[in-house]
Amino acid sequence: MSMTAAVCNAFRGSILHFLTNPGEAGADHSYQFIPDGLIVVENGRVLALGGYAELHPTLPAGTQLTDYSGRMILPGFIDTHIHYSQTDVIASPGKQLLDWLEHYTFPAEGRFDDMNHATEVAGFFLDELLRNGTTTALVFGTTHRQSLDAFFAVAGQRALRMVAGKVLMDRNCPEFLRDTSDSAYADSAALIERWHGQGRLGYAITPRFAVTSSDAQLAQVGELARTYPEVHIHTHLAENMDEVAWVAKLFPWSRSYLDVYDHYGLLRERAVYAHCIHLDEDDRQRMVDSGATAAFCPTSNLFLGSGLFDLAGVLDSGMRVGVATDVGGGTSFSMLRTLGESYKVAQLRGYTLPSLQAFYLATLGNAKALGLDDNIGNLAPGKEADFIVLDPESTPLMARRMRSATTLIERLFIFMTLGDDRAVAATYILGELVHTRACLPSAENLSNE
Ligand SMILES: [Zn+2]
Repeated sequence: MSMTAAVCNAFRGSILHFLTNPGEAGADHSYQFIPDGLIVVENGRVLALGGYAELHPTLPAGTQLTDYSGRMILPGFIDTHIHYSQTDVIASPGKQLLDWLEHYTFPAEGRFDDMNHATEVAGFFLDELLRNGTTTALVFGTTHRQSLDAFFAVAGQRALRMVAGKVLMDRNCPEFLRDTSDSAYADSAALIERWHGQGRLGYAITPRFAVTSSDAQLAQVGELARTYPEVHIHTHLAENMDEVAWVAKLFPWSRSYLDVYDHYGLLRERAVYAHCIHLDEDDRQRMVDSGATAAFCPTSNLFLGSGLFDLAGVLDSGMRVGVATDVGGGTSFSMLRTLGESYKVAQLRGYTLPSLQAFYLATLGNAKALGLDDNIGNLAPGKEADFIVLDPESTPLMARRMRSATTLIERLFIFMTLGDDRAVAATYILGELVHTRACLPSAENLSNE
């Protein structure tokens, strides 16, 4: 290890990150846990990771050390499905999906033709993600091209790794949100050319769902996907039974809902399908074979009464799977809350989700699901230094419960069952502090070596 550069930052705390899927490998080798660890960051990337006692003497003079002893440093959480344009829709009671879209979501999304509104919401949304320890997300905008110009501009200013796309929909929605197959293609292509690969930004081709796109538009979406094989594809699939029935009516030639997307060439790696609750065996096999990803959104599925995702079945099948908030159908920006609800949904399907598997999903698993694990997902040297600090004493109840926990597995389970944004003591982007909880004395711990 060479540390010749002048400016390094080092962070001390207990450190946890994953190397592989604990569901596949032996649990001993799937993660690295360093009870008193040190992470060294240079130029926004992890330079070194190891035990404090070994690494500390090697730090060059002038290294700034931040001491988070007693707290846990993890890679930033990743959210594989969220709508920034639904920030103001969260906690709106509806009947189920189709009614909720009509009464809350579509009117709210109509406001995003205003660049100032879009910019203000994007800023709040990204603040909220960072407060919750989420450092990367796959994000829906609205049909308005400017909703993405606003989002990417704000995310780019903050040097965030974010993937987002303009919603494509040309039917079964209000006139003020409708595009056409031609404008959908042209606007998406223009946004890809402008934003994809700028800094850490990425683009996702984003048809809302099969219900709101005509055959002509889906054919154009397929053409976009062929023209830009490097970008993501992001949409919804088999969330709600009424939706599934409507798709069968709109596409009478299709074998299944998934078959509609398959027909237009939208199944591939880096294609992320939110929900995937109501799939049959053939659908599952196509998901596995194509390398597409299912995004499990437990708080949304419970809130909208959509159904219980078969997490165990999906994990067993070898399908790529991510876990996601789906705000605003989802009820929390917090991945800790989302893991807690994932556990409960899995319980109702007869599967007890281990806490190690849950934290793997929210970090390295979601990075792999999005195909971004070369850069993010764990704290291996060379990775981008997006990380968070969890405080096991973030509430009196959590502090009390943590005192009787003796193992890492227990402590993680307490974080995911009792934790929320209050448990996120600090969030770092490329090694720079972007969020800290006001009550914490972390500034006092800064010292020059
Ligand atoms: Zn959604």
